[in-house]
Amino acid sequence: MNYKKLDEKDIAFLRDVCGEDRVILGKDIPEDFCHDEMEGQSAVPEVMVFVLNATEVSLILYYANQKQIPVTPRGQGTGLVGGAVPIYGGILMNLSKMNRILELDEENFTLTVEPGVLIMDIYDFVEAHDLYYPPNPGEKSASIGGNVATNAGGMSAVKYGVTRDYVRGLEIVTPEGDILEIGGKIAKNSSGYSLVQLVTGSEGTLAVITKIILRLLPKPKVQQSLLVPFQSLSEAIQTVPKIIKTKVIPRSIEFMTQDMLQSSEQYLGRRFPDHTGNAYLLLAFDGNSREEVEKDSDQLAELCLREGAIDAFIIDTDERNEAVWKPRSSYLEIIKASTTDMDECDVVVPISRIADYLEFSRKVEEEAGFRVRSMGHAGDGNLHIYACRDHMDETVWKEKLDEFFTKMYTRAGEIGGKVSGEHGIGLAKRRYQRELEGEDVMRLMRRIKLAFDPNEILNPGKVI
Ligand SMILES: Cc1cc2nc3c(=O)[nH]c(=O)nc-3n(C[C@H](O)[C@H](O)[C@H](O)COP(=O)(O)OP(=O)(O)OC[C@H]3O[C@@H](n4cnc5c(N)ncnc54)[C@H](O)[C@@H]3O)c2cc1C
Repeated sequence: MNYKKLDEKDIAFLRDVCGEDRVILGKDIPEDFCHDEMEGQSAVPEVMVFVLNATEVSLILYYANQKQIPVTPRGQGTGLVGGAVPIYGGILMNLSKMNRILELDEENFTLTVEPGVLIMDIYDFVEAHDLYYPPNPGEKSASIGGNVATNAGGMSAVKYGVTRDYVRGLEIVTPEGDILEIGGKIAKNSSGYSLVQLVTGSEGTLAVITKIILRLLPKPKVQQSLLVPFQSLSEAIQTVPKIIKTKVIPRSIEFMTQDMLQSSEQYLGRRFPDHTGNAYLLLAFDGNSREEVEKDSDQLAELCLREGAIDAFIIDTDERNEAVWKPRSSYLEIIKASTTDMDECDVVVPISRIADYLEFSRKVEEEAGFRVRSMGHAGDGNLHIYACRDHMDETVWKEKLDEFFTKMYTRAGEIGGKVSGEHGIGLAKRRYQRELEGEDVMRLMRRIKLAFDPNEILNPGKVI
């Protein structure tokens, strides 16, 4: 694609729409806005604009579409696949100042927000009203717009699903500048194609999201966790399908390994409460009565012990909760701090194939010659497998990394998995997605992109 470079007239137009203060020129844009949390991908936009409402977004997109100027939407830049990196320059549209909570509707159980609201602020707000917004991605300083755009997952997906399951309606601005309301405060909707579902997870390539109607639930009154050490990772993982079969549905089923806990102790400077296992399952339960939660927890503790667990520890105080969940939720920082460079597979495979897949990753690790660490959401098959460069020569690392990813994603495809369970495709996983999905599916995705964005100005170079 040939995109227009911005000139003085274009900057004057942006200043007319947003005012002088909210238009930052390339040379003055802090480096932090030129990348997200993915290592090694960075690009300076020609201009960054802070938008305040849908009208400004519409005027800018209409103009950019006429002039063939690329526009990259950005939330908080916590993405892990380079989705908010403006690789073609152009306009970086920063939505972080559209950060108002607009309406809590307690009759319809919905919360209407602007896209720049941080998810940690949503949790605080709804909890103060005895309500619950279940999606629970690790990075709480992400924006809700970014979460919707990437269909963020997290640690509550086993019981509650992912962001997509909580988006009832959206206000979007199309690349041609139309402001559209799609979906609404309704609990059911069979009225034509679900545009809400299509835009959710589209990573800023189809439309800019300017308002979100979220579905809420009543807040569960009681929660408790269970820490279960096993002799081996395969024993721990093989227990997961058996847990699912009991029909008791924990909020989370996560796995961790001993080497990960050692790194976490070094990084966090805090001892993990147990050292008997080589691998651990970490289960969380919630419900409306202590009796209900304890019954579920006891049932799964007994099952794990029958399946060979060394022990099963009930975690029911805030202090113990912090001690066991902190290493899990901080793992990305822990792994980054442990190595010179790293990259990540965020694959999802059927739950019944997690054990085979992890076994496969161990073989690939031996061939690759670099360190591989894994952890993840055992209850939904979404695994995070980290390749760590350590002291490997950079050129060798890049070659080996490419081979590693190709093998890992090809294998995921062979067993019915997908390239991304929650982080999205961005620019990092495009090639692997193309290989896994095949030409026909990619052609259909491309046609959808062109139906929304015929001039391909919105977040070009991402997803497809
Ligand atoms: C430590 C850590 C832990 C994490 N844990 C998880 C996890 O458990 N689960 C998970 O799913 N992710 C996780 N992430 C990834 C990241 O937090 C999510 O991808 C998040 O949704 C990104 O939100 P953001 O506001 O930072 O968006 P950005 O990174 O700014 O943007 C992400 C994508 O969304 C698009 N976008 C942003 N706002 C809009 C908008 N208003 N309209 C249209 N498009 C938009 C951008 O163009 C880009 O393609 C983690 C990241 C870190 C650093």
